[in-house]
Amino acid sequence: MSKLLEVKDLAIYFDTYQAEVQAVRGVSFELDEKETLAIVGESGSGKSVTAQSLMRLTPMPPGKFAGGSILFNGEDLTKKSESQMESIRGKDISMIFQDPMTSLNPTMTIGKQIAEGLIKHQNMSKKEAHNRGVELLKLVGIPNPEKRINQYPHEYSGGMRQRAMIAIALACNPKVLIADEPTTALDVTIQAQILDLMRDLQQKTGTAIILITHDLGVVANAASRVAVMYGGKIVETGNVDEIFYNPKHPYTWGLLSSMPKINNGEEELQAIPGSPPDLADPPKGCPFVARCPYAMKLCENHMPEYTNLSDTQKTACWLLDERAPEVEPPESAIV
Ligand code: SF4
Ligand code: MG
Repeated sequence: MSKLLEVKDLAIYFDTYQAEVQAVRGVSFELDEKETLAIVGESGSGKSVTAQSLMRLTPMPPGKFAGGSILFNGEDLTKKSESQMESIRGKDISMIFQDPMTSLNPTMTIGKQIAEGLIKHQNMSKKEAHNRGVELLKLVGIPNPEKRINQYPHEYSGGMRQRAMIAIALACNPKVLIADEPTTALDVTIQAQILDLMRDLQQKTGTAIILITHDLGVVANAASRVAVMYGGKIVETGNVDEIFYNPKHPYTWGLLSSMPKINNGEEELQAIPGSPPDLADPPKGCPFVARCPYAMKLCENHMPEYTNLSDTQKTACWLLDERAPEVEPPESAIV
């Protein structure tokens, strides 16, 4: 499969009144056609900023590209003008957000909002766009689409609004769909339905998906590959099996053990103690050093390089680096 998107050494900083915040600090990943890549991390890890930058939705200023590139079909999106980006957004790359209420326009019918992109990017007439809108609503599982298409967002339930957002995002058959916490605001049953729908639609349309989430539980059934972000960096990446069954980064261990487990009907949740690093004054060495139970002296001042564990898995941790002195990997990794 060919590479659709290649992000190389991407750095994004924000100028704030007090300091420069290094939100994304040298992130590299690739997206193949038709695959789903999950980017997982706590809030403040840089995952949303990374995702938004692919569509250049990061406000600049105060944000700025501080290095690296985003190659889409071989062209660097960091170099595009705003008007060039206008023709890419919604057509080649589109995005859905956590809360459809903030991204849907409350004063326009769902039908009009679907039609906008079709008229703009695909030169459809109003009538054609309307008919395509009905098809799209049917595709995303909205009942009675002929009637629903003329309704306003407030007439939809939360789950239906997210379905409508997906219909709008997929209207022009984008190559890449970015979903930023698409199910976080929904209750568990609806969450599962929306994730099923996304997987289903991906099989039908072939759109590649970047799924941004803080919840590893969402990833298992929805993604094929995972990138774990922490402190503005990708600390581990691998396919879903590698991340769930053979994780090697202490932060990934922490994320896995903080997933809710159902034990005798009781839900237990262990959060990772501590808080993420201050990216206005980022750690010199490993970003996880302050919270890592296995941290060594060297982790404080030296950023670990990636160790390739397979063709698909790589991990940045000194525990895996043979150059680290006196390293004793912990015996039982996952508690
Ligand atoms: Fe922990 Fe050191 Fe590995 Fe970072 S490099 S995760 S601090 S052991
Ligand atoms: Mg976010």
